[in-house]
Amino acid sequence: VRIARFSTGSDVRFGVVEGDERQPGTLTVATLAGHPFGEAALTGERHALADVRLLAPVLPSKIIGIGKNYAEHAREMGGDVPGTPVVFLKPSTSVIGPGDAIAYPDVSAEVHHEGELAVVIGRLCRDVPAGRVPEVVLGFTCANDVTARDLQRAEPQWARAKGLDTFCPLGPWVVTDLDPSDLAIGCTVNGEVRQAGRTADMVRDVTELVTHVSRSMTLLPGDVILTGTPAGVGPLQVGDEVAVTVEGIGTLTNRVIKRG
Ligand code: ZN
Repeated sequence: VRIARFSTGSDVRFGVVEGDERQPGTLTVATLAGHPFGEAALTGERHALADVRLLAPVLPSKIIGIGKNYAEHAREMGGDVPGTPVVFLKPSTSVIGPGDAIAYPDVSAEVHHEGELAVVIGRLCRDVPAGRVPEVVLGFTCANDVTARDLQRAEPQWARAKGLDTFCPLGPWVVTDLDPSDLAIGCTVNGEVRQAGRTADMVRDVTELVTHVSRSMTLLPGDVILTGTPAGVGPLQVGDEVAVTVEGIGTLTNRVIKRG
């Protein structure tokens, strides 16, 4: 099931996206009563997807990032895979939705894309044992862990490098019935392939990451864990169109504008 968050005018709703993605004209969204965390019911209302504006599929209380979770990316960053996962936070104010603009900030001259698989948490949890991870995961979406690489090098804490406004595009929707263990993941800039990997190459898989993070902090419905980026990170420029695609989910596309 594909769960989207969308607006029609001033109304913001969750809904279930139905139809064949290869024929975008056939896609519709069936409105959910309330939210998708827990018992969800359809209202009976339905829109053509083309008539609604897709929003970030969730509003996380926190976004937890994982550094260097693909060995080849660790190498291109000039290091090894860390013995203990590097965990960082991105603020809720960094989240934007599909089609929203990434704002290139004045405080950086080196903004990079990082295409990633994002895990969306479905219920309040902590100390989740490996066998119960599927119970706490609502599903998966695409993410771009946009990073100011110059600030990341200059500052030991990555709060600014990873946390600038608009630096966490999420979407286009959450897919609930997906095995994340071996999916193609890619990132293009202006149609040119920059990153092309497989989630099977993660050093620590989704189960390990949820287990690890939930031992340290309580996860809330809608929280997001970014699972790391494959090799091929590189610069974005004002005017670029960047697209992250994960097999079985879809494509998250954002344009880069100058922060105004
Ligand atoms: Zn990342």
